[in-house]
Amino acid sequence: MNAPEATFRPASAPHRVLLHICCGPCSTAPLRTLRERSVSVAVHFANSNIAPAEEYERRLEAARGYAEALGLPFVESAYEPGAWARAVGALPEEARTSTDGITPPPERCRACYRLRFRDAAAYAAEHGFDAVGTTLSVSPYQYTDIIREELERACAEAGVEAFFEDYSPLYPETVTASKEAGLYRQDYCGCLPSKAEADAGRAARAAERAARKAERAEARAQEEARAAMKREERTAYAAKQARKRAMKDVLRGKHAVSHPETP
Ligand code: SF4
Repeated sequence: MNAPEATFRPASAPHRVLLHICCGPCSTAPLRTLRERSVSVAVHFANSNIAPAEEYERRLEAARGYAEALGLPFVESAYEPGAWARAVGALPEEARTSTDGITPPPERCRACYRLRFRDAAAYAAEHGFDAVGTTLSVSPYQYTDIIREELERACAEAGVEAFFEDYSPLYPETVTASKEAGLYRQDYCGCLPSKAEADAGRAARAAERAARKAERAEARAQEEARAAMKREERTAYAAKQARKRAMKDVLRGKHAVSHPETP
């Protein structure tokens, strides 16, 4: 994964772009900037990586609703999770409950980008678009350089222009804009291995937080025990001093009785 650029640097935009989008939230800021530059955009949803199917439907619905609200053409490509599994060398779906046996990132992601961009580039070539872009570069969790390489490769194969822009500086805007628009926001990249990885990451972070909390609680308990011991020591010392004073008083009293002064 790449550190996000600080500033968005727009590329020179072709007139008619087919924009591959991964989800509604990630499309918000890229669509805003393209529309401001008067680029003619159609949205292409080619995401056979998304699993399970209910998750795919949820993201599709959010992406379609957002594009249509902006009055943009929306194209859904075929949803073929089997093709994705073959492309990334993954286990069959019934075995995909963990990352075991699955090609790890970034190579898994490279194969995943390749499949989706080939799909988009083929559609663009067939339907007379000038170029193909993608919103995948907006995410700080993606591999920006590999996205660019694979977009350029797929476009070269299909004979269309690759319109790569690094949208990562716009990521904070996508968070705000998608919340404002009430779009469904997923908490993992898309494939089942990424869900397992995200769940494992969250569990590890929760365990770290719990361990730090337990450490703080232990340190507090030790501090309180030390304070309690000091209080006990002070109380014991005060009691000892009181006994001494009492003893002295008694002794002084005895002395007065044993050697009464004669007036
Ligand atoms: S983590 Fe994301 S980009 Fe990588 S393979 Fe899975 S869905 Fe594709």
